Amino acid sequence: MANADTSFQLTAPTSQFERQELFGLFLAGLATLALLVAWVGAGGLAPWALLLFSTAAYTVGGYLYFKRHLKRPAGIDNDGLMFSSSTMRGAFGWVLGVVFTGVYVLLYFFPSTLEGLIAMTDPLSEIMRGRGADEWFMYGFLYTLAVLVMGIRMLIKYRHSTYQIVRTISVMFFQLGFAFVIPALLQIFNQPEFYFHYFWPLEHNYLFPSTVDFFTDTTRLGVFMIVWGGLMTFVATPVLTYFYGKRWYCSWVCGCGGLAETAGDPFRHLSDKSLKAWQVERWMVHGVLVLVTIGTAILWINSAMEGGLLGGFSNAFASAYGFYVGAIFSGVIGIGFYPIMGNRVWCRFGCPMAAILGLLQKFYSRFRITTNNAQCISCGNCSTYCEMGIDVRWYAQRGQNIIRAACVGCGVCSEVCPRGVLKLENGPQEGRYNGPVLNDGEYAFVEPDESWKAGRSGDGAPSSDNGQQVFMGEDIPVLSDEEWR
Ligand code: SF4
Ligand code: SF4
Repeated sequence: MANADTSFQLTAPTSQFERQELFGLFLAGLATLALLVAWVGAGGLAPWALLLFSTAAYTVGGYLYFKRHLKRPAGIDNDGLMFSSSTMRGAFGWVLGVVFTGVYVLLYFFPSTLEGLIAMTDPLSEIMRGRGADEWFMYGFLYTLAVLVMGIRMLIKYRHSTYQIVRTISVMFFQLGFAFVIPALLQIFNQPEFYFHYFWPLEHNYLFPSTVDFFTDTTRLGVFMIVWGGLMTFVATPVLTYFYGKRWYCSWVCGCGGLAETAGDPFRHLSDKSLKAWQVERWMVHGVLVLVTIGTAILWINSAMEGGLLGGFSNAFASAYGFYVGAIFSGVIGIGFYPIMGNRVWCRFGCPMAAILGLLQKFYSRFRITTNNAQCISCGNCSTYCEMGIDVRWYAQRGQNIIRAACVGCGVCSEVCPRGVLKLENGPQEGRYNGPVLNDGEYAFVEPDESWKAGRSGDGAPSSDNGQQVFMGEDIPVLSDEEWR
């Protein structure tokens, strides 16, 4: 008989840290300490030392700690996630949430308090942009570092999946190149700062009249930027979403998605899966889209009438939208609340780009997640780890394609499914909405008692004649031989 200390766990326990992992955590702690030292004033005294040390310590420390996944067979390992204080809204999780939110509050409302950190990035800014750092350069540096270090974690954790590897490298590439390096280099060459991977309505002011005037008045490259932004919004977005769904942007390119898919991955299960949340999500995300669309239209009308429509009001609207939606919602709440509400709060409830992509995905796209309900064991892993709060299992149990506007095509539901039920596919639009019925509307009703008589599958679960698992007293679809195969 087993004594009280014996573990019945079939796999090796992972909660104990090995020496290398502890050292990794220690290095990450030192990196955080270096940032704190910079923040309280040393940033200007030894900028390179602090910058290089914190970067190296986070990278090496992160790698040593995340290597723990290599001890296990390839495949997603979420052991301990539901027991960890940091990932299950425990005390540590709340502390993290308060710290993240606090940093954003300082960034938006009291940037002067971050002078030490800004000074730490000064020399790098001089090299990359030809001028000193400001709070946004410092923020961009730390944001990029977070995506890269946590991207390494993703590459190790999801090393068995080509889709996840390529997708992670893609978001790391776009964050480093398009969000950090290129906008900085543009400034060295006296060009306007521009993010080639952000388009209206996510970067709402790129199609505002004042921005268009400014860019077209500067250089030929400025004109190209405006044309690029317009083409990406009105041509590339619908075309790419038609072929690949929302995922081409939300899970492969976007910087907000990039952070969510790397630094936010440990919190993906915290998304609210309730029907209420889905209802709130639809009102909010489409409400923001309506707001930015009407606002942009009013700005253009006002501009055409030379201020005759609303005078200065339209500009006040532009600033208010930029501040409350673009900054407070996407930053303070969207990222600050990762440890409390999951990693896609902004993408789900506030991003107007996600709203447009979602509408296209739902009504005019070849993308869907197909489900093979015969294999589903209703474990619910897929729903648990869906960062967009989609109850994936509900669809899987019915053999129904998932074509939800919210789905960002991260593919994690498919990765965590132990039965290979879910597959992300692009295919013809015809038959995309298959509904819960699998054979032309025909249903069979299995009496509770009869279902048990009908036979038991090998694992003791009741099954119908054709071997499909049934739920007691429920209507279940009868599969033809062809469908069964
Ligand atoms: S993870 Fe797979 S087996 Fe489990 S409920 Fe979802 S689809 Fe079914
Ligand atoms: S349904 Fe799957 S692919 Fe879509 S967002 Fe949820 S986990 Fe990602």
